[in-house]
Amino acid sequence: MNPFKLISGLLLFISIGAAFGQPININWPEVKDSINLVDTHSRPVEFQNKQVFSFPGIGVGVRNDFTSARLNKLVQVNDSTLSGWITPENFPINMSPWYAFKIWADTEKDIYIRLNYKHGRHRYIPRLSKDGQNWAQMDLADLYTGMEDTTGFFKLHINPDTLWVSGQEIMSSASAYQWIESLTEKPFIKSHVFGKSTQGRSLKAISISESDGSNLLVLLSRQHPPELTGYKEMISFVETIAGESRMAKKFRKNFKVLVVPMVNPDGVDNGHWRHCAGGVDLNRDWRHFNQPETYAFRKFILEEIEKTNAQVRYGIDFHSTYIDLFYINPKDSLQLDKGISMTFINAINKKMPDNPFEPVPSGIEGQNSSNWFLHELGVEAITYEVGDNTDREVIRKRGEIAALALMKILRKKYK
Ligand SMILES: [Zn+2]
Repeated sequence: MNPFKLISGLLLFISIGAAFGQPININWPEVKDSINLVDTHSRPVEFQNKQVFSFPGIGVGVRNDFTSARLNKLVQVNDSTLSGWITPENFPINMSPWYAFKIWADTEKDIYIRLNYKHGRHRYIPRLSKDGQNWAQMDLADLYTGMEDTTGFFKLHINPDTLWVSGQEIMSSASAYQWIESLTEKPFIKSHVFGKSTQGRSLKAISISESDGSNLLVLLSRQHPPELTGYKEMISFVETIAGESRMAKKFRKNFKVLVVPMVNPDGVDNGHWRHCAGGVDLNRDWRHFNQPETYAFRKFILEEIEKTNAQVRYGIDFHSTYIDLFYINPKDSLQLDKGISMTFINAINKKMPDNPFEPVPSGIEGQNSSNWFLHELGVEAITYEVGDNTDREVIRKRGEIAALALMKILRKKYK
């Protein structure tokens, strides 16, 4: 890290911070060795060749020329096996090897697919779809790979109709924007474009409010492209806040909710494992804001604070990992009035005892969004992690329960 850049960055923070209503508490802990900080300046990204892979000898075709696809290379091994390479956008990278492709055959047949993960190990159980909209997990009897195996190996039953095969459901930026538009049919929901990504995609937010907006709840999702389960739980959560329950109607009179459903549209649409088009993990860029996505997000929130002299009361960043858990700010961090996160998690777990969240205290040095909430806005925030394989109906139900629980907690505290 160039010290001059660091200092000028800090001065910029202070000058922006001073201009806004919320008391800005820029209090990032000292990091003794700046090597421990992740450099979030842009790095080169390798994009895929979009193409159709044809295997006329066995009458099979495969393609990656669609949004969110990932299949870098594919060769025929024998009459019934294809071997593919799944390569990350750059390296080093978190172990989340995303893949997505379409496959068909002249005649009905079984085909074996081996996926070789460069810099990765098998993580996602294949999900299948006939239309790209309705998805089901592969029959586990057809999957010959365990978690953490160096390759993925499975059998597909294919025919002339296109079969979509993907690590999780494909929900690209277009579907997020569609969802935003559908919500704005309600008079109290507005959409905003607050910036552009590296590749020029619109960064969109929605605001939900029937109040003067002096209390803010901030929600975000899809910093990490493959993290569909967190995204789906966020959708259920937001739809509950926008819904017709008595609690939601009362909450909207007290709170304005700002939601950025897709922080990393470039990564999502390019089928990235983790990073933005600038080649960095956006959830390590909340200290230096080198990427346009995080920079614009921060500016948007600070401007919202200034507009109505508002206070952010809580933040949730929706993600996915292997199991259901909450990363929560440690109890003794700063002199905050702690208590929302544990009350929140206990309320959800009480209603969903079979699918509880594990509370995991996180460090306060990490350059992630919840530490930005903590150090700059002086509020609690959580990283809300939903398991990769959590049942989709549980996700829908729990998103609803979580939203009702949080609305109740926040209303009681800030009525
Ligand atoms: Zn994540």
